[in-house]
Amino acid sequence: TDTPVTVLGLGLMGQALAGAFLTAGHPTTVWNRTTSKANDLVADGASLAPSPGAAIAASPLTIVCLTDYVAVRDLLGGDDVDLAGATVINLTSGDSAQAREAARWAEQRGARYLDGAIMAVPPAIGTADAVILHSGPRPDFEAHEATLAALGTVTYLGPDHGLASLYDVAGLAMMWSVLNAWLQGTALLRTAGVDAVTYAPFARQLAAGVADWLPGYAEQIDAGSYPAEVSALETDVRAMTHLIEESEAVGVNAELPRLIKAMADRAIAAGRGREQYPVLIEEFSRPRNGP
Ligand code: NDP
Repeated sequence: TDTPVTVLGLGLMGQALAGAFLTAGHPTTVWNRTTSKANDLVADGASLAPSPGAAIAASPLTIVCLTDYVAVRDLLGGDDVDLAGATVINLTSGDSAQAREAARWAEQRGARYLDGAIMAVPPAIGTADAVILHSGPRPDFEAHEATLAALGTVTYLGPDHGLASLYDVAGLAMMWSVLNAWLQGTALLRTAGVDAVTYAPFARQLAAGVADWLPGYAEQIDAGSYPAEVSALETDVRAMTHLIEESEAVGVNAELPRLIKAMADRAIAAGRGREQYPVLIEEFSRPRNGP
């Protein structure tokens, strides 16, 4: 807990990160373009550096959390910044190509670079609920793992710098799919006078039940073999038709179920109707533009 750490960027997230380091007892140096955002942290014991370069030089580890990768490049590419020998962990959100590119760019300037993704909101930072993913050279992660633990549940994914961003966007796909499925069901039930609050606990249990299928289905995907153990895709598609027809009949939006059925119909047209649902990975694994 006496390892010094620097935080560059004191937006909503950066302030939470710096605050968690202070709470854990780390000597914490901060810098932000708008200096006033450091006031509360300085009152809590943080040191405000006069420049980004001075901030990076103050600690063996620098955490960067800005709006986007353009801002990161602008900041770390500044005249006063010397990255040689510094370790930078960039927790700014972005895509995997940006992460790999930023890694090359920082390494060319002599930095050790890890890319990360924060799957949490600022109030959760510093608790086990804050999942923070890291990717890049393992030794660089392990060298700072104990310090990073102040932020939450820290996980190392692998040496490919793009992995943290990929997991991050995969998590977005999960989040929106679960939420949209719940909203579809809520819209249906409201037509019969069932409140959202009444349906929510039922929906929660359904979502958890479906989540339990994932490990077994994942084995089918990795094996590239989809025997219909519990249900064939063509049976599922008949149920999709019920969902679409019910939605249309009660005047609820049917776009999402139609989109899902269109994917399944293509798989059936390709001869996969007697296989199990995860065979749709083949539809998800190739690009297709337009509706
Ligand atoms: P804010 O908008 O609150 O803060 C943005 C920060 O970036 C500020 O410190 C801002 O400085 C700085 N900044 C922007 N452009 C520049 C620049 N050109 N040069 C220097 N500094 C710059 O955003 P958040 O703190 O909420 O988010 C930061 C990152 O964390 C984002 O990538 C976001 O996706 C990610 N994240 C945020 C979550 C959240 O719930 N807030 C959840 C998960 C990830 P200034 O104060 O001077 O404007």
